[in-house]
Amino acid sequence: MQTLTSLPDLRAALAQLPKPLGLVPTMGYLHAGHLSLVNTARQQCETVAATIFVNPTQFGPNEDLSAYPRDMEGDLEKLRNEGTDIVWTPTKEEMYPANFQTWVNVEELTTYLEGAMRPGHFRGVTTVVAKLFNAVRPDKAYFGQKDAQQVAVIKQMVRDLSYPIEIIVCPTMREFDGLAMSSRNAYLKGDERRAATVLYRALNAAKSAYKSGERSANTLRHLMADTLRAEPFAKMQYVSCAHPLTLKDLDWVEQDALFSMAVYVGRTRLIDNFLLDGGKWVTG
Ligand code: AMP
Repeated sequence: MQTLTSLPDLRAALAQLPKPLGLVPTMGYLHAGHLSLVNTARQQCETVAATIFVNPTQFGPNEDLSAYPRDMEGDLEKLRNEGTDIVWTPTKEEMYPANFQTWVNVEELTTYLEGAMRPGHFRGVTTVVAKLFNAVRPDKAYFGQKDAQQVAVIKQMVRDLSYPIEIIVCPTMREFDGLAMSSRNAYLKGDERRAATVLYRALNAAKSAYKSGERSANTLRHLMADTLRAEPFAKMQYVSCAHPLTLKDLDWVEQDALFSMAVYVGRTRLIDNFLLDGGKWVTG
């Protein structure tokens, strides 16, 4: 496995490696969710590249950029064990040189859900992902269903900017009790860790009501919200039942729906979702 920092070194190394090339972008502090993306890329591509970059422009002024957990040594070890060929760890200066002033912004999709709660977040995400795509020029890029809106926004960007890249979405990996794996779970203290399963419980409440025949999106949203409110350590930010591609609120749930939520558990902000895709549940 080669670990590179500069863009010229990355380009030179990639030029020697066979196609198809798969890219797994990450912000590091890797867990089994990240590694499942690498593993899927390993099965589908001749060369697997991963990137580790804590992207400052996708954090709001009051968010956790400086506290964001990091473990470069551990991450490289995990990527090596998973069979990664190339790891790019660009510096902030490489990604955002002085006088940087060009941004990529997906306009409408980013006004909903996470975009509404975290102004500027997706502008940072699409800008950095566009730069990673330009640098690595992968044939396929791997993203987690855990960040469902990010998937929708990146697919839109790929269409709009004509990137010749296939976006592969991998299921959400969970802890034994259903909590979606996340680097931010490291912030959960004491009782918060147990309380954090409330997101999974709320999503399951909607899923089982749907399975029993409930089709009113409002009723399903209320069921999720009621489950969240019953957990004293949790503070709901939003629950949503929306179309998975347009992210617009649904009135009735038929074959395709994204059930999603953002919840504070203590001071830690967690997101999770279940996808109903053509009548089949993708829960991870
Ligand atoms: P991050 O390092 O949080 O930016 O995540 C990097 C990639 O890993 C993104 O595509 C995430 O959606 C994906 N990811 C994060 N958590 C999980 C998980 N629990 N299961 C599957 N993929 C995940």
